[in-house]
Amino acid sequence: MTTSAVHWFPAYVGLGSNLNGPARQLASAFELLTEIPDTRLLRRSSLYRSAPFGGIEQPDFINAVAALLTRLPAGDLLRELQHIEQRRGRERGEVRWGPRVLDLDLLVYSDQRIDDPDLVVPHPGIAERNFVLLPLQEIAPGLSVPGLGLVSRIRANLNEPEISCIG
Ligand code: ADP
Ligand code: MG
Repeated sequence: MTTSAVHWFPAYVGLGSNLNGPARQLASAFELLTEIPDTRLLRRSSLYRSAPFGGIEQPDFINAVAALLTRLPAGDLLRELQHIEQRRGRERGEVRWGPRVLDLDLLVYSDQRIDDPDLVVPHPGIAERNFVLLPLQEIAPGLSVPGLGLVSRIRANLNEPEISCIG
């Protein structure tokens, strides 16, 4: 008998919001992550508050990270994340670093390194952002990010303002 091996890939998704009740936005985004086909939501981090960067006057951000197991290829998973952003009322074409109802970034996808025009994995912002590294370390302390190494090591090398965990 031949059975094709079914591969489940670990993937980590960064969630961020600073509009329309950010904590509520993240709670509903976590729920929508559970509805992605061929995908399981394994863990959700606490919520973290951080001041915005990029020099635009706007509300604080709330961020979190989700751990998934998925059978979808990375590109299909990204499309599902974008679909959720759109369902939550995110408008494309908004200002970079500007306020947003919901931002979902594919941070890490298995041990893959992808450099396509519309998908870069691991997400290039990981190493510079405490609001990604803290929640990532909380739910995956032993994670080694392809090309960057252990999450704890990346954090130790980062000189950035601390952010607060708000539970
Ligand atoms: P940012 O998240 O950098 O603040 P956006 O969410 O507006 O900005 O960026 C979305 C664009 O980034 C999309 O067009 C998407 O194709 C591209 N992109 C590239 N790599 C990734 C990734 N790993 N996760 C999410 N979007 C990505
Ligand atoms: Mg994004």
